[in-house]
Amino acid sequence: GRASPPLAALSQVLRLERSRRTALVFPLQKLERYLAPGIDTAPFRLFQPGLAALQRAEALFRSDRGHAIDYVSSAVRMDHAPPAGLPEVCFIGRSNVGKSSLIRALFALAPEVEVRVSKTPGHTKKMNFFKVGKYFTLVDMPGYGYRAPQDFDEMVEAYLQERHSLKRTFLLVDGVVGLQKTDHIAVEMLEEFGIPYVMVLTKIDRTSRGVLLKNVLEIQEFVKENTQGCFPQLFLVSSVEFSGIHLLRCFVAHVTGNLPTVEAS
Ligand code: GDP
Repeated sequence: GRASPPLAALSQVLRLERSRRTALVFPLQKLERYLAPGIDTAPFRLFQPGLAALQRAEALFRSDRGHAIDYVSSAVRMDHAPPAGLPEVCFIGRSNVGKSSLIRALFALAPEVEVRVSKTPGHTKKMNFFKVGKYFTLVDMPGYGYRAPQDFDEMVEAYLQERHSLKRTFLLVDGVVGLQKTDHIAVEMLEEFGIPYVMVLTKIDRTSRGVLLKNVLEIQEFVKENTQGCFPQLFLVSSVEFSGIHLLRCFVAHVTGNLPTVEAS
């Protein structure tokens, strides 16, 4: 198979000098020291696993003999979805938010996994199911457009409301532009359904620290004031540099019940 990109594996990350390593694994924590005094930093470190937990999570995302990571199937209707059995996580977000890049980065240690993109306008939008051994299923939901809520397929709504095995929904938000109108509509939908979700800020390598900090603080405040179901800690990622990817793998492993204990770092 193809070789994995350099920082996809923790073993390579551990070779970095300490402050670069922290910035790569815990990008949100890296921002903390630029905050004005008095800002509540509790939401920055709710999920802060140690190396052992990060390594156990990575093993789930690394395919080998006896541990297959496979694209299972695509579905355009709920009744085409594979039977729900394993704990499941799903990824949703606006088209172009960086969803396929993120899923590719998460699965970079299983380079045989094909993460397909269907960008062509009018092209049928599908839910894509990936099975991670006997541990969990990851679902790539169709990206929504600029005309939401009309663009939320009935399928997406039905899936989010009916899928009992769904443990967590990952709502991707573009870290460069912050929350957009359509993201607010997605939040309203998730709140209405009463399901647990978490926000992931993408493309953080493209923002200046100032813009990123502003977006993080604004979104954190929004989450605190307006949501019930959203995990208060934001996850920051760059699929190009692999920032935040290791932590996100660990969180996925955790919410799917595959890391019984997450010791603090
Ligand atoms: P999707 O429509 O949500 O699946 O978005 P894609 O993953 O196809 O990404 C949309 C565009 O953003 C592409 O041009 C990607 O190369 C770019 N992109 C995605 N993630 C990142 C990232 O982490 N950093 C940078 N710099 N670009 C990204």
